[in-house]
Amino acid sequence: MKESPERVRAILAALDIPEELLRERALPLQTEAKELVLAEIGDDGREYRLTPAAAAAWRGMKAAAAAEGIVISLISAFRSIERQVEILREKLAQGASLEAILAASAPPGYSEHHTGRAVDITTDGAPPLEIEFEQTAAFAWLTTNAARFGFVLSFPAENPYGYQYEPWHWRYSPIHELLIRAVTPGDMRAASALVHRSFNTLAAADWEPKARAVFLQESSPERLENASAAHAAGAFFGGEIVGFLSMPAPSVLSMLFVDPRHVRRGIGRALWEAARTHVESVFPEVKTVEANSTPYAVPFYRSIGFMPTSPEFVREGCRVTRMAYRLTRRK
Ligand SMILES: [Zn+2]
Repeated sequence: MKESPERVRAILAALDIPEELLRERALPLQTEAKELVLAEIGDDGREYRLTPAAAAAWRGMKAAAAAEGIVISLISAFRSIERQVEILREKLAQGASLEAILAASAPPGYSEHHTGRAVDITTDGAPPLEIEFEQTAAFAWLTTNAARFGFVLSFPAENPYGYQYEPWHWRYSPIHELLIRAVTPGDMRAASALVHRSFNTLAAADWEPKARAVFLQESSPERLENASAAHAAGAFFGGEIVGFLSMPAPSVLSMLFVDPRHVRRGIGRALWEAARTHVESVFPEVKTVEANSTPYAVPFYRSIGFMPTSPEFVREGCRVTRMAYRLTRRK
């Protein structure tokens, strides 16, 4: 059956799940997979289905792990919206509160398992779907190797979606599917949420509490739009924004944020390369792009070619280093 916002809305209403709750948690609607193939058959004969690309990636990852003596198996793969409704109804029938259920299970229409790209992974000797999975050699192996196969941990500890930490749940988001494009006014709400969760997770420690509050205000959807006068781009997997860059002027890079689940995958660099190309072609008179970097981001900016032009100093409650990128025009 085809999913649609209307169909999902009707299902949520039937389950008494308020739409505000989904907005508060910034849960993205997930599209039900259209094409599925068998990815694995469990020891109990259960069949696990994924999209063809995700299934191939899963099998490649499983073989690579096995070659290093690590056993990884599926305990969940594709799940339809209908199945998600059944799961919620079963839990409600057992007397669980909706609040408790939704900390562990996605509302129908919002589970990454609908996409046929998400997997729940277990290993020998670990209880399934328990936080103890984090202590296993399999989890350690995945942390180092899963990204090579396109798999990313969806719900780390303190994730912004209000789910409990799920070390077993990984999603296939291969880097070759990353799309960099200009952001539109319709993207600003999601871009702001991304900036906030990236800031809170990765950068806020460098900022004094008052300065943090100011930053969060200044990165509201409305303010982001104003701060994007010269250029603003997002990095997207599927419809989900995972990186954001904005330039209020052609010589000023004011924001470059990547979702904490997707750092160290080259997304920040890809956003910068696209911005640099844009400035070089549209603003040929610009010789230098400047950015104020927090201590956390200095190594990143250095890695993409920015050089420090000041010692570290405190500016409005935040430690920053001024950095500059010299544009060398290539004809
Ligand atoms: Zn899962």
